[in-house]
Amino acid sequence: MLKPCPECKREISDKAPVCPHCGVPITAQPGTQTNPVTTQQTAQLWKGMQLIGCTSCIIAILLCIPFPTFGIIAGFLGFFLFAYGRMKAWWHHG
Ligand SMILES: [Zn+2]
Repeated sequence: MLKPCPECKREISDKAPVCPHCGVPITAQPGTQTNPVTTQQTAQLWKGMQLIGCTSCIIAILLCIPFPTFGIIAGFLGFFLFAYGRMKAWWHHG
């Protein structure tokens, strides 16, 4: 089956990993190109975890004033989430 190239708009096979006319990689192909996408989504997950952890730390500092015990627990959890996300991101991407 032929489809237009996303870059040069010429007809190419949908099984071609790259466009034979302009050499652009065909990313819409299922199977061979799924790994980078998964890595990207995983990286976003760890970044999100870091963000939640960081936000939890800030909330925990604010909570320490009226509720010291709860603030310390929330702070610990927030730090753990941040450190875990940071570690996983490092593990996957160096
Ligand atoms: Zn092309």
